[in-house]
Amino acid sequence: MALDRQVALVTGAGSGIGRASALALARQGLRVAAVDRDLAAAEAVRQQMAAAGGTALALTVDVADSAAVDAMVAQAGAALGSPDLLVHCAGIAPRQAVLDMSDHEWRQVMAVNLDGTFYVARAVGRVMAERRAGTMIFLASDRGLYGHARGAHYAASKGGVIALMKSLALELAAHGVTVNAINPGTTDTPMSRATLSDDEWQRRAAQDPLGRLSRPEEIAELVCFLAGPGGHFMTGQLVTVRMRFG
Ligand code: NAD
Repeated sequence: MALDRQVALVTGAGSGIGRASALALARQGLRVAAVDRDLAAAEAVRQQMAAAGGTALALTVDVADSAAVDAMVAQAGAALGSPDLLVHCAGIAPRQAVLDMSDHEWRQVMAVNLDGTFYVARAVGRVMAERRAGTMIFLASDRGLYGHARGAHYAASKGGVIALMKSLALELAAHGVTVNAINPGTTDTPMSRATLSDDEWQRRAAQDPLGRLSRPEEIAELVCFLAGPGGHFMTGQLVTVRMRFG
């Protein structure tokens, strides 16, 4: 499959699904801006892409900081060319019961997961709309559809991401930009390993119809499909990887 996109901006590229996506896109020949709050992690991924012959850049940003996001998108564009693919993976998933949740805990998750998606999509969307070409892919979650005990802030933020994705798809279609989201299901990353106990992990894997949970590289394959021609005539869709089993 040939990807006709040239420059990818991948947030959350230092770990998990973002890291696997950045590496897969670089293998397909895209120039990749690997963006993460953790600069050392982004730099490690950049080095891996460069060692394989790719053109890549590592940038640090807190996606919850609107001005910093605007500056980061401008910096990536100046170094690599304007991004025509966004893969927005940056996110956090702390656990807390609603009745024990502080204002700060609620705000922090909304700031990173929902405000951050808005800031990144707005900054990249302006560039894509001007060039009349682009593909945006957000990482959502089935928690945004079905809720999350001890994770209402995460569920609400991901529900917001889905609504934002669909709204942006409507607004940007006339500008030649498509916007979709992936619901990856439980995927073996530092986030899910930190969120689930070993027992929960084993139980989910055992219940899964395919007998195991997703690997980040498998989600990256879907990212590559959506980044290619398959994703250019598809917009406003939440692509769910795995059937819900409980
Ligand atoms: P991960 O924790 O492995 O990676 C997330 C990356 O985002 C990290 O490198 C982290 O440093 C970065 N990040 C966090 N906050 C940031 C901020 N404020 N600014 C910039 N970067 C920031 O997580 P993952 O499992 O790869 O998750 C990627 C996305 O997929 C997330 O949006 C997550 O909600 C979603 N998702 C994951 C799963 C799963 O099972 N792993 C399931 C459903 C949805």
